Amino acid sequence: MIAVKWRTVEETVARIACAAIDSYQGRRGQARLSWCSSYWTPQYSGLCFVEFGIDDVDRSYPALACLVGRGKMSVEGNGKALIVQRNANSHFRGYAILRVPPGWVERRFDFTSPKAVREGLIREYSGFADEILDLFRASNEHFAIRPIHALPVGHCWTHRKGLTLIGDAAHVMSPFGGEGVNNAMLDAAELARLLATDSPWDDAVMEYEASMFARVAESAEGSAEGAATFLSHDGQALTLELYRRHRSAHEASAGAG
Ligand SMILES: Cc1cc2nc3c(=O)[nH]c(=O)nc-3n(C[C@H](O)[C@H](O)[C@H](O)COP(=O)(O)OP(=O)(O)OC[C@H]3O[C@@H](n4cnc5c(N)ncnc54)[C@H](O)[C@@H]3O)c2cc1C
Repeated sequence: MIAVKWRTVEETVARIACAAIDSYQGRRGQARLSWCSSYWTPQYSGLCFVEFGIDDVDRSYPALACLVGRGKMSVEGNGKALIVQRNANSHFRGYAILRVPPGWVERRFDFTSPKAVREGLIREYSGFADEILDLFRASNEHFAIRPIHALPVGHCWTHRKGLTLIGDAAHVMSPFGGEGVNNAMLDAAELARLLATDSPWDDAVMEYEASMFARVAESAEGSAEGAATFLSHDGQALTLELYRRHRSAHEASAGAG
């Protein structure tokens, strides 16, 4: 839990207690139950990411730089997937994605040895094209386990005076929608805006909570759909169908605009 000091435009200092979640440590349920009137705790989605990084890609690995390009690449097959995205400073961040029970990744790979994780991933993805496996071969020494958790779509709580939640603490979802950070930043901006109005603080917080609950439902639903679709028994077919549906919806809304 962290306490955040907030300065409004009227130079008033308010203190808001925000339960902050460490997305990766699984401690979140405790904080929420004791501070908020929500009975829900985030549930493991069945998907676990192994995060890795590749440094200095443009100079050291031009073929991989070309493979991933300026955005991100994703491959899926045999119940496994790999997503690699370009970050700043010629760095790639990658995720090997596996649909496995809790604790499986820790048991399967020896995280005390980066070399053992790298070799384990190459073995696990055998059958993938060699240039895809080169992504693992080029990985640096930093690997991390990211079990994916989510709160139920439509998660909300009964307002409690003097307390609220923002970001993942309020609405952790699988990263498939890519909207966790956007929602977290908008939560903070909206809460700040409402606190800076003339309304009593408690009314401002209640208004923030009501609009945030409604706003994040769509992202949470999309993220849940992505997590359920990815690596299904009919993985590629369902994934392609999802992408096509999104493209049609996007084209329809662009046409309407
Ligand atoms: C693998 C993965 C990929 C993702 N990819 C994307 C993406 O592409 N796009 C996107 O928008 N979102 C993505 N997300 C989601 C995004 O990371 C989160 O939505 C976002 O980080 C939430 O921000 P937050 O500040 O609410 O929580 P966090 O970023 O989890 O920050 C909470 C902070 O509180 C700290 N903390 C916890 N407990 C305590 C304590 N007791 N005392 C002090 N400090 C404490 C933690 O260490 C942490 O630094 C991804 C998530 C994962 C797991």
